Formats: sequence, structure tokens, C-alpha cells
Amino acid sequence: MEAGSFADVPQDLRKEIEQLETLFTVDTTKLKQITDHFVKELEKGLSVEGGSIPMNPTWVMSFPSGYETGTYLALDMGGTNLRVCQITLTEQKSEFDIIQSKYRMPEELKTGEADELWEYIADCLMQFLHNHHGDISKMEKLPLGFTFSYPATQNYVDEGVLQRWTKGFDIAGVEGHNVVPMFEAALARRGVPIKLSALINDTTGTLIASAYTDNKMKIGCIFGTGCNAAYMEDCGSIPKLAHLNLPPETPMAINCEWGAFDNEHKVLPRTPYDVIIDKDSPRPGQQAFEKMIAGLYLGEVFRLVMVDLHDNRETHIFPGQDVSKLRKAYTLDSSFLSAIEEDPFENLSETFDLFQSKLGIQPSGPELELIRRTAELIGTRAARLSACGVSAISIKKGYKTCHVGADGSVFNKYPHFKARGAQALREILDWPEKQDPGEDDPIEILAAEDGSGVGAALIAALTLERVKAGNM
Ligand code: BGC
Ligand code: MG
Repeated sequence: MEAGSFADVPQDLRKEIEQLETLFTVDTTKLKQITDHFVKELEKGLSVEGGSIPMNPTWVMSFPSGYETGTYLALDMGGTNLRVCQITLTEQKSEFDIIQSKYRMPEELKTGEADELWEYIADCLMQFLHNHHGDISKMEKLPLGFTFSYPATQNYVDEGVLQRWTKGFDIAGVEGHNVVPMFEAALARRGVPIKLSALINDTTGTLIASAYTDNKMKIGCIFGTGCNAAYMEDCGSIPKLAHLNLPPETPMAINCEWGAFDNEHKVLPRTPYDVIIDKDSPRPGQQAFEKMIAGLYLGEVFRLVMVDLHDNRETHIFPGQDVSKLRKAYTLDSSFLSAIEEDPFENLSETFDLFQSKLGIQPSGPELELIRRTAELIGTRAARLSACGVSAISIKKGYKTCHVGADGSVFNKYPHFKARGAQALREILDWPEKQDPGEDDPIEILAAEDGSGVGAALIAALTLERVKAGNM
């Protein structure tokens, strides 16, 4: 259920709610304006001069046929977990077997020393191999697809120069460097029998894994801790690769890195809260779009609104209560907002309990309504803005109908995210009203196959095939 009636909300709080609605609502006109600008920025990113969206060529140069075979390792260095998988692409079309282990990604590593990061990753890989292969000294070297989900410049599929850390990572000495030798050195020190075949972005993995089982899949998206998309371009439309003289119809997956969209603040309707998030982040001025959408930031936007309504605005919500816990940056993650939005509307008792247990605050009835509405506004804004990116790629490529494979905690777990995104697509792309409610939308955002596991294995397989065929 969306907003309640707010009948019992006093005048002053209702005024605050209205002001938040104005700040956070992105109407159809604005969505279209953002999308138009987005299309231009996608083009710019492919040009020799470049723009703010990196549009990184990934050297993934075909969709899978479904007939790929072999055994591969996949490593996913995510924000919360490190996952190691062994994937066997079987003889049956589009089928695979997978075994996997998850390791915690210690929070300190994200802002620690580069060496510690690579050593930790190599240890996890070694442990995985020990568990599943026993004596690794007798093992044959397995090819690995490494999902490294940060913007990277690649001249080859098996290298990647980190452009910048995102998602709160801040490890010195990695930006501007090829991460593969650092990673391989840590493996070599332990004698881990692995050959890195491909460095992969999670969006590219998602695109390829989804296309493995559904050939209508044209775009891969992540709506998780970070936010981004990849799609297949043809080299003839990538002026910055013209010097390579590849045949114009050669496919090339592009990792858009659309989180950087509008870093120059031309169209996005930023609020004062978005400005604070950016200013206090380890990389101010970067990832403007991502900071309004991605899971890492949703709870923080919400927290900043609450603090502002307590401190600075006329209403002073939570009067006389101790808000010290609320003052701590990044204490609320997007699952907190999800829980608020999932609360059955009647009396918002679950929201009350959440505030009490997590923050030591006991909101009044009208404050609970304001809290609920604020969560809805932030969640809705994120879903609608994401749709601008999906629409922009579809418009650029002339896709009138296709499937978009999406993964990530926000897509999979945030209430109404899918429906709100679909509604925004409808508004942006001017689809006629459905005749029958069961009818599919022309462009549908669907749950993806496992991109950083199966996708990474497929990309390793496609790369080895290409090498064998003698093409790059
Ligand atoms: C990274 C992308 C990644 C996305 C989703 C962003 O912060 O820059 O490379 O695809 O997060 O994980
Ligand atoms: Mg991931």
C-alpha cells in the first residue's frame, strides 16, 4: 500500500511531508529530460574526447551460444562478501553445475592496505581449492573469471586499470594501476594453481549470464550496493576504439559505469541531502547518479532527512528524545528502509519497534507516518531514476522490446522497486496503457542469472574460445 491518508497528521508535519514530496518526486517530464541527457552522455562516453560516464569496453565480444563447456573458477569481490565458485558448463544447452563458498569481506579491508586485500583474497581462493580439490600441488591450473566491480580501463580482457574506487572503498595505491599483477602476485606467493582468464564487471557478467538462458536479454544491470549497467555495442559505434580498425559490426560489451552520470550536476534533481552525502564521501564529485540510487546510500539519505527534521526545521521531530544514535553516519542501511516500507500500514508498529530497537527513538503516530512517507519517497526516487538509465540505453540502441537482466540487493529485496521502475519506464517510453493486466511490457526488467558466478565462467569460456580461434 502506498501513502496513507495522513488524516491525523498535524498541520506542521503535513507541511514537512509536502516539502519532502516536492524535493524527492521526479515527475514524468523530469524523467524524460534526464533520459534525453543520459542518451547524449552514453554517446559522449564512447567518443574519443570522452564524457563523465566512462563507457568502458570490456573485451567481451559475443553472447554465449548456450553450448559453452568446461570447468571454471569465478571470484566475486563484492562489497559485503567474497564469493568463490567453481562452475561446470555442461554438455546440455544452457545448463551448469555450481559449487560455491562465501567469505566475509572484513570492513577494515575496504579502507586498509592494498596488500592486505590481495592476500586476503588469495587466502580465500586457496582455502576453497583445498576444500574441493585436496592437494593443490597436483592440481591442473584452472581458468578464473574475476568479477571486480569497479570502473576499470581494459585494453585486454585479462587486465584492468582501476579508474577509481566506488561504493565506499578507499585503498591507497590501487587507483591508476592494473589490478591483475597485484592479484596474481598474491596467488603466486602461495602457489595457487589458477590462471586469470578475464577481469569482469558484475554488470557484464549479469548480461552474459542472463543471455545464456534467455536470448531476449540485451542489458545487464546491478541495483545493489552500487548501481550500473552493461550492454552490447558494435565497434563501429565506438569512436574511441576506431584506431583498432575492428570490423564495424564486431560486438563489444560496454560497461557503462553509469553511476558517474551527471557528475557535473546538469539534470539530476539533487536535494541538500544528496549534496551532504557527496561531500562526506571518500570520493566527492564522483558517482552522482549512484549516490541517489544505490543501496549503500538509501539509508543514509533517509537518516539525513530525519536529522534535519529534528534539528533544523520548524517541526523538530522527536522532541526531547536522545537522537545520538541517529547522528552516526551510515548506521541505517537500505534494509532498514525496506523494513519500513514493508510494514503493513495500519499502525506502523513494526516501524515503531525498529526505531526503538535500532535508534532508541520512540516516534509518535504522526511521526511514524512521516517516516513511512519519507522511505517511500526515497525508494520511489531511486527506482524511477534507475529507469532513466535503462530507457537511455534502449533508446540509444533502438530496442523497442527486450529483456533487461537485473541483480543486486535493492532489485531483489527492496519492496516495490520493480513495479516503480516498470511504471517509470512506461512514462518515459510512452507505452500505451495495457489492454489486459497480464500483458508483458515491451521492455521488462527481470531477475538475472548469477552474473558474477555463471557469467564470469561464461566470459572465461568465451575468452578462451576466442584465443583458441586466434582472435585477439
Ligand atoms: C561500480 C560498478 C559496479 C556497480 C554495481 C559501482 O559502484 O563502479 O563497476 O558495476 O557499482 O556493483
Ligand atoms: Mg555482486
